Amino acid sequence: MKNEASVLFVGAGPGDPELITLKGLKALQRADVVVYAGSLVNRALLEELKSGAEAYDSAPLNLDQVLQIMTEAVAAGRHVVRLHTGDPSVYGAIQEQMEALDALGIDYAVIPGVTAAFASAATLRQELTLPGVSQTVVLTRIEGRTPVPEKEQLRRIAALGATVCLYLSVSMMDEVVEELLAGGVYTPNTPVAVVSKASWPDEQMVEGTLADIAEKVADSGIRRQALILVGEVLSARKDGVPEKSKLYDRDFFHGFRVKS
Ligand code: SAH
Repeated sequence: MKNEASVLFVGAGPGDPELITLKGLKALQRADVVVYAGSLVNRALLEELKSGAEAYDSAPLNLDQVLQIMTEAVAAGRHVVRLHTGDPSVYGAIQEQMEALDALGIDYAVIPGVTAAFASAATLRQELTLPGVSQTVVLTRIEGRTPVPEKEQLRRIAALGATVCLYLSVSMMDEVVEELLAGGVYTPNTPVAVVSKASWPDEQMVEGTLADIAEKVADSGIRRQALILVGEVLSARKDGVPEKSKLYDRDFFHGFRVKS
């Protein structure tokens, strides 16, 4: 891992400032200039900056302005951290920034973070992969202003019947439910959970089925910054685990647990 890159893209995690990685925290503490996604990154993390470090909220800035801050700082020999919510690789718009830095000959590295899907699973205290139920997790979104390729339209994803984590979609609950049912595998009884502001002090969760979740979410007042989890794995919350995992089975031996 190139820790000394001029620009570090850092995953801030989902909200709780203790959910940044140690490596991310150290990068933040060393930084001279930080550009952070003000809409979702917990500002408590900025308290980690050394005195004299500059912090810029990227929310009102366009790509060129963000790049200008970065390039000027790098030219002055300063350490730059670009702080993204969750993990930078998921809906982080980092590729275009990295491409621009490549063109400018500026070196960079990425420090991963805890993405909202995993923070939401933690809030729910729910495993996303259960033997005999689902061994696949899809991270996706419904089409909004950003188009989604035809092959990944939500109804086609829903046809997998896997565990699905939907980002950027809670404001379109009715369409989400319609598309999920149109896949032909989920039914009105399929369980759904919606977690808003996972890991923040005011986190909220709503649980239901495809039949009633849209109404429950509307009643809850959750409008944004929420993750939708769909799939039969959530049934285990009520019905228990249908099949125990092989990993800890008394009769299943592997490299780290050999038959004695
Ligand atoms: N890079 C981020 C995602 C950015 S897109 C990540 O890895 O998590 C923004 C979307 O992420 C929001 O619309 C919401 O769906 C989700 N999100 C971000 N933080 C969240 C949180 N604390 N709880 C629930 N959903 C969250």
